[in-house]
Amino acid sequence: MQKIQMKTPLVEMDGDEMTRVIWQQIKDIILLPYIDLKTEYYDLGLKERERTKDQVTHDSAAAAKKYGVAVKCATITPNAARVDEYNLTQMWKSPNGTIRAALDGTVFRAPILVKGVTPYIPTWTKPITIARHAYGDVYKNTEMVVEGGSKAELVVTKPDGTVEKSLIHEFKGDGIIQGLHNLDDSIKSFARACFNFGLDTKQDVWFSSKDTISKKYDHRFKDIFSEVFENEYKEKFEKAGIEYFYTLIDDAVARVIRSNGGYIWACKNYDGDVMSDMVATAYGSLAMMTSVLVSPDGIYEYEAAHGTVQRHYYKYLKGEETSTNSVATLFAWSGALRKRGELDGLDDLKDFADKLEKAVIDTIESGIMTGDLYLISTLENKKKVNTTEFLEAVNENLKQLMQ
Ligand code: NAP
Ligand code: MG
Repeated sequence: MQKIQMKTPLVEMDGDEMTRVIWQQIKDIILLPYIDLKTEYYDLGLKERERTKDQVTHDSAAAAKKYGVAVKCATITPNAARVDEYNLTQMWKSPNGTIRAALDGTVFRAPILVKGVTPYIPTWTKPITIARHAYGDVYKNTEMVVEGGSKAELVVTKPDGTVEKSLIHEFKGDGIIQGLHNLDDSIKSFARACFNFGLDTKQDVWFSSKDTISKKYDHRFKDIFSEVFENEYKEKFEKAGIEYFYTLIDDAVARVIRSNGGYIWACKNYDGDVMSDMVATAYGSLAMMTSVLVSPDGIYEYEAAHGTVQRHYYKYLKGEETSTNSVATLFAWSGALRKRGELDGLDDLKDFADKLEKAVIDTIESGIMTGDLYLISTLENKKKVNTTEFLEAVNENLKQLMQ
């Protein structure tokens, strides 16, 4: 069989621990037999980040900007324990944070649905994609503890030097205050990323905030979304047969629970943090959650939503058998290859991505699965396999589909 040819390289960002092991196996077992794989490789493993003083992360983000599509393995975000474990000279920043800052992106997370793994909300027959704004609000706040008898005010010094003040509260007893901000440009980018993703995936876009209570702050989000939609997307949405819909966050929550899924739910930073964990858990497993970072100028970075699965890695190092779920990482590859195929006009590459995803789902629905799914699957003929056996089983199905 002739291997599928690529035009533009994918930016390949390798990572850490168990997902690094899976990364290599996916390439060896699933990709290289079928594709003349063209990638520009960046090793974001913690050792290499330390060796290059994290330059490799910045270089990989620059490469993503240059080529437009990247696929990323899960990476360790160092904490104090990792500083000891890897003998780090610095507690390097989260690579995801660095890449997100460079690309100015919005993160979209969607579950992969399979028969036998039933969502806790039985009406959710289609995936719900959460789009989380990744800038500002409570994640960039200023807080103070306030002593009784104090007066707290918001003070803004304008470019011309004049000062605008607004009373927060006259404190009789002790209390607390918090200052938040966001930026029109960041909200605009967020809105565009959501509308583009809606067009890309042919799904409605919902956006929710609390504008009835926050009449300036949240209202600004609502107004910017509406402006961007009216000026730039309305006609495109009509053509695609999809809708944009705004509602209050509490109303949105109630509607989401009653819905069948099949839309993108754009959330402010905090709402997105909370709701993405709720939605992910309700669909069954973090290992079945895809994640893609989309920048306003159309750069795509695909990854799995879970981490490096450290506990499994230490078993693997001791030579024990592991049963780690590779589905989200496989879908990161299929997502990136499909996007590369779309951009470069390579139908056989897009077709490979579709077949790979089908092979993965067929494998699980035929009863072959890793331990995490084995615990929750309702299939009667289910069988638990190890990390490598699962990938080999996927490849058996893929081989059939590729013939
Ligand atoms: P994790 O790697 O997501 O794993 C947490 C637990 O979830 C695992 O111990 C495992 O449970 C289960 N799990 C997650 N993915 C699984 C999979 N593919 N197959 C089977 N089970 C899976 O989170 P963590 O252990 O908290 O973090 C480990 C490292 O990942 C940290 O250094 C963190 O910084 C990093 N991290 C990276 C990213 C990223 O790069 N995007 C995201 C999150 C965390 P059992 O042990 O019960 O089997
Ligand atoms: Mg969270």
